Amino acid sequence: MPIPIHDPHQAPGGTLKRLPLRKAAVLFIVAVCLCLSGLLYLQIEQSRRQDLANAQMASANLTRAMAQQAEDTFLAADLVMTSLVDWIQEDGYGAAQRPRLQRTFARRVQQLEQLHGMFLFDREGQWVITSFPDLPRGNGVADREYFKYHQQNVSSVAHIGPAIRSRENGEWIIPISKRVNDHAGNFQGVLMAGIKMSYFDKFFKSFSLDDNGTMFLGLTNGTLLARRPFDESLIGTSLAKGEIYQTLLPNASAGTAMIDSVVDGVTRLYGYRQLESYPLVVSASSSRDTILKGWHDRAFQSSVIVALVMLGVGLFGWVFIHQVRDGERIEKNLIKAQRALELIATHDSLTGLANRRLFEQSLEIEFARGARQSSPVSLIMLDIDFFKRYNDAYGHVAGDHCLTQVAQVVKNCCQRKPDLAVRYGGEEFAVLLPDTDINGALAIAGQIRRSVMDKHITHSGSPTGYLTVSLGCYSFIPLGNDSPELFIQRADAALYQAKNAGRNRAAVLSMDGGVGELMRSDR
Ligand code: GH3
Ligand code: MG
Ligand code: MG
Repeated sequence: MPIPIHDPHQAPGGTLKRLPLRKAAVLFIVAVCLCLSGLLYLQIEQSRRQDLANAQMASANLTRAMAQQAEDTFLAADLVMTSLVDWIQEDGYGAAQRPRLQRTFARRVQQLEQLHGMFLFDREGQWVITSFPDLPRGNGVADREYFKYHQQNVSSVAHIGPAIRSRENGEWIIPISKRVNDHAGNFQGVLMAGIKMSYFDKFFKSFSLDDNGTMFLGLTNGTLLARRPFDESLIGTSLAKGEIYQTLLPNASAGTAMIDSVVDGVTRLYGYRQLESYPLVVSASSSRDTILKGWHDRAFQSSVIVALVMLGVGLFGWVFIHQVRDGERIEKNLIKAQRALELIATHDSLTGLANRRLFEQSLEIEFARGARQSSPVSLIMLDIDFFKRYNDAYGHVAGDHCLTQVAQVVKNCCQRKPDLAVRYGGEEFAVLLPDTDINGALAIAGQIRRSVMDKHITHSGSPTGYLTVSLGCYSFIPLGNDSPELFIQRADAALYQAKNAGRNRAAVLSMDGGVGELMRSDR
């Protein structure tokens, strides 16, 4: 253990600055947790985007397939009808033509799976020829949308109307129809082919779609033609107010978007596409919840893992910080104990003044400094007068108390920081005065003597009636190899002279004539 030295000139704060370990640990843990959270967020966000991008691609592909299928379905019917309309316009649909036309209608319907039936209506909307063996009886179709359309539009382009229930057998069909003219271009009737809605249902069902997913085929005016899941009440309703028709289709004929359904309010990723050749729109959608279900699960797993790691880091940090705090407390206690030990080792327990050990170390230091700076070092040796008698008269306990009072006086008279008050032994004290000449030493010695007297400590064994002290002063400028023993001896000799001269005084050693001779005293 290093022994502390009385070195008042030593610069303070010479110890190494320590890292604030606890703060650093807290900052480190917070930084680790923030990094982990940041990485988790990035990973989760990237994974979410990836899942949405995949779903968008799948949706776009599905709507492309749906559009192709719808186009093929209507195109096949359209081609058949075009050739039949040409034939009818050329040859008419008189009684002579009807059996052949009926057979052709039936054959075409047999050939094309999507066809429910084929019907030719006259100017009044009455059945003329159908693909079925018997002509239906009834009021005709003059009230049907497609019939009115062709009545009023000279266009020979195929018309696709809203889904209807067949008056033949009640099946849901999507009518594709063409106007039939006479040679002069006058309206002669309508050829209509009914596309089975079930054909689209079957096609829609061939795709695997989540429970909340939807597919639909609609007209460009928003009228719903076919839908998966099939809901009869929705057929024929308008989707025109929905976002696809309102905002998306006017901007792009195909695309994907995350929107809330106008039908059931569910948020879905919709892929949509408008057909090039027919006024049709197809759309397929998957619910956002389904698309992101895998992502939700993964995000949950990652979050749990990161939370566990953060918990571990936090726990480790907590233990670490506690360990550091305990270590700091132990260190503080050790330093305290060390200081206490140092104090015990270097100070007198009764008076609290420096002991001889510290005195001797200080002497060495001050001699060296005095030699370096050519400055005088002084020493006052003090001895209580008639102290044996004091003990005898008042007892040792009172004697000890008296010693502490004298020590206090000595200490109070040492006003400069480098001055060192020492309990030299028994009832003897020493005062080391660096950078002080003999005059200064004598002044302080006189001050101590008077202060002790001023205490008025009753002493029946003293001629004065009060406790007094005698002091011897010595001063010299160290040269470098001086003897501390000699230094003490000389101050002691001065003390001896003060005692011999009658006590209660301070004396300076006279070096004239070799052996000590009282040269000056403060009395
Ligand atoms: P003088 O004036 O010549 O110094 O006479 P004196 O009686 O003081 O003689 P001396 O200096 O030799 O006295 C030493 C006495 O001091 C012996 C002892 O009774 C007393 N003494 C020494 N150390 C202690 C102490 O720690 N406590 C007490 N109470 N008395 C002590
Ligand atoms: Mg003595
Ligand atoms: Mg004495």
